[in-house]
This record gives sequence, structure tokens and C-alpha cells, in this order.
Amino acid sequence: MAAASSARIGRRVLLLEKNKKFGVKILMSGGTRCNITHNCDSREIVKAFGRGGKFLHSALAALSPDEVVALFESLGVATKVESTGKVFPVSNRAIDVRDALVRFAEAENATLQNLSPVTDIVNKSGVFDVQTCGAVLQSRSIILTTGGLSFPGCGTTGDGYAWAKAFGHSIVDTVPALTPLLSNCQWANELKGITIDPTAVTIKGTAPAGSKKQKPLAQTAGSFLFTHFGFSGPAAMDVSREVARHPNRKQLRLECDFLPGQKQQQLLDQLQRAKKDGGAKSVLRTVQELWPEFPKRLIESWLGEANVDGSLRLAELSAGRLNALVEQVKRSAFPLQGTLGYEKAEVTAGGVTLKEVNSSTMESKLCPGLYFAGEILDLDGPIGGFNFQAAWSTGWLAGMNA
Ligand SMILES: Cc1cc2nc3c(=O)[nH]c(=O)nc-3n(C[C@H](O)[C@H](O)[C@H](O)COP(=O)(O)OP(=O)(O)OC[C@H]3O[C@@H](n4cnc5c(N)ncnc54)[C@H](O)[C@@H]3O)c2cc1C
Repeated sequence: MAAASSARIGRRVLLLEKNKKFGVKILMSGGTRCNITHNCDSREIVKAFGRGGKFLHSALAALSPDEVVALFESLGVATKVESTGKVFPVSNRAIDVRDALVRFAEAENATLQNLSPVTDIVNKSGVFDVQTCGAVLQSRSIILTTGGLSFPGCGTTGDGYAWAKAFGHSIVDTVPALTPLLSNCQWANELKGITIDPTAVTIKGTAPAGSKKQKPLAQTAGSFLFTHFGFSGPAAMDVSREVARHPNRKQLRLECDFLPGQKQQQLLDQLQRAKKDGGAKSVLRTVQELWPEFPKRLIESWLGEANVDGSLRLAELSAGRLNALVEQVKRSAFPLQGTLGYEKAEVTAGGVTLKEVNSSTMESKLCPGLYFAGEILDLDGPIGGFNFQAAWSTGWLAGMNA
């Protein structure tokens, strides 16, 4: 996007990519469907990025989510909005997005060179010497878009951080984000393959001495997947950055509310009503009928954890056991061991510190002619197309100014 935007205004552009294929991350994104942006306005994108969001104002003014959609449509990629607000190509093919960008940059006369790893960049009195494949190329402007450290197998090994540091930039400590969570909770691991959507998830640590309250470290709601190693799906992945950043990861736990739309008391009332109506059916059967959205395996696990014999008639269940069962639905707690790390992280949190980059141009405040865009910056958003939107917008703005 940066190469196309720069070439479009008449700059001579050379894009150097270490891989054989361009845009490998695009190809693997969104389950190979590429969630290109979110169906919202720029303000909501800013909000989604939290403390770093305001850095994106100018970039989003240069290329908003609507303009991303219009741009891709103009490049022949029709898009659709799904119920989650995620925007995908109608074709469901990430390769269409990647190919459109390559076509766009080439049509604007940018030169795209694959199999060209940059091995060093040196600034010699305002001219950058860029070393690649035995050659040294010279330019007055460079845009660093080497991404982060996630999925290192596809070329993103954090090379840009070293150059940014060499040019005087500070790097905010990086951690994997949007990555699955590890848990050795056996009963949860046995539920592998089950998805509950929506589930409200909360990360909690141990309470400070003398206090009963545990402030949540992170909270969100969305689709939640049990796996053989722990938890995945957007809800679990969206809270992973706080787990990865925590100094005592193994003291953290994940609390799940599997029926976030209903209060604890409402669920108790439903069970008590069923009990008053005779309670002749087994507890297992009653719960299956009351909340048919849950698979039998999950209900059986809740019953086990709540010390409830599911074959008992509901009428035989004490108020205490009813409460314990509802606690499982509203507040199942799982110990965490950490995350699956960079190998499976969709993004890298941390990176080139934002305060040293001019957000109106993407130019370094420390080294004239040096620009940054995309995930190399200390910016990471939630799942839902936000990270591509930030990459497209910052790339577009950097390209216009470099
Ligand atoms: C599995 C997965 C799924 C994802 N799905 C989505 C999604 O659906 N929606 C969304 O918004 N975000 C998604 N993301 C996140 C999104 O892909 C990234 O945030 C985005 O690609 C960042 O763009 P970028 O251009 O900054 O970096 P990247 O896309 O990572 O590109 C960096 C490029 O630089 C190249 N490079 C690195 N070092 C060098 C070097 N020394 N010399 C030459 N080239 C080099 C790399 O090979 C790479 O091609 C996903 C990420 C992953 C891993």
C-alpha cells in the first residue's frame, strides 16, 4: 500500500521483499479469506487501538475504512460485511486482495522485487545505503514496513527493529498478541473442538494481600473455542496481550461467562421454576432443555465441576448445588500457563515508539527521510480487520510523504 501510494504521486519506488511471494501475511489472514477492515468509521478504529489510537488520526484521515473498501472495489475486489462487522472479499479469497495490491503498485509504476532480503541500512549524510543480495541501493527516503515478530516462518523476524534502534529510536518491549491461551486444565482440554459464541472472558490475577477484589486485567466477549492445549477463538485471543505482558503468567486465570446475556439470578430463577414445576426430569435433561445452545459434553463438565450428579431428579437438588451449577455457567475459572507465543500470534504488540514518529507524515522525528508504517510501530488492535486498517492507512500516509 505504501509503495502504491508513493508511486501514485510520481515517486520512483522500489519495494524489497525477502520472500518469494509478496504479502504472505495477507494470504494467510482471516483463515485465508483476509478480513481487510472493519465496518465502522475512523473514530471507532481510533478507539479500538486504545492508548495508541490517537496516533492514527491523520493516517485514517488519509485513508479511512470506507476508502479502503472503495479502493479495493476499484481494484476489482468486491467486499461484503459479515454479522461481526468484519469486511471480507466477496470471493472469500485473500489472494484476490494480495493480487489487487500487487497490480495496483505495478500499475502506478512501482518496481516490486521479491527474494530481496534487506540485510543492512546505513544513513550517510542524508542518503540511505540499503544492502540487499550483494548490492547497495541508495535512496533519500525509505519506508520500513518489516512488520513484527509474529509467525516468524513467513519472513517477519523483527529485522526492522534493529535498524530503527540504529537510527536512534526506542522500541517498546514486544510481546505476542492475538495468540491462543495455554491452559493445562484437564476438563477444559477434553472439551476440544467446542465453540461457544458469545462467551464473555476476563483475565484475573491474584488479589493483592488484604483485598478480596481482583481487578480484571482484560475483558472482552466473542466466539470462544476449547482446544487440546487451552483456548482459542477471537475472545481468548483478544485478551492474550495482557497475559503475554504479565510477569507472573502462571498465576493468572481466565474466567468465562458462557451466558453473558443473562444475569446469574435469572439463570437461578429458571432452574428454581423448573424445580417448582415438579422437577421430575434429570438435572442433565433440564439443563439441556433450558439452554439448548450448549453441547452435552460441556454441560456434563459443568455438572462434574459443580459436584452435581446429572442423573438426579432436579427436585432432589439442594439450593447450594443449584447455585454451584449456575456459578459454572457464569464464572468457570481456568488456570493459565501463558500463551502460544509469536509462533501463533496474529500480531506483535510493542514496537517503534509512537512519540518518536510524526503521526501527520509517518516520518521519524529523529532521522529525516526515514518513515515507518504497519505493525513495526507500537500499535496493535483487536481481531476484526483493525490491524490491516492501521497498516493500510499508515502505509498510504507514509507513501504520500516519503
Ligand atoms: C495468521 C494471521 C491472520 C491474520 N488475519 C488478519 C485479518 O484477517 N485482519 C487483520 O486486520 N489483520 C490480520 N492479521 C494481522 C495482519 O496480517 C498484520 O497486522 C499486517 O499484515 C501487518 O502489515 P505489515 O505490512 O506491517 O507487516 P507484514 O504484513 O508482516 O509484512 C512485512 C513484510 O516485510 C517483509 N520483510 C521483513 N523483513 C524483511 C527484510 N529484512 N527484507 C525484506 N523484506 C522483509 C516480510 O517478509 C513481510 O512480507 C493476521 C495475522 C496473522 C499472522
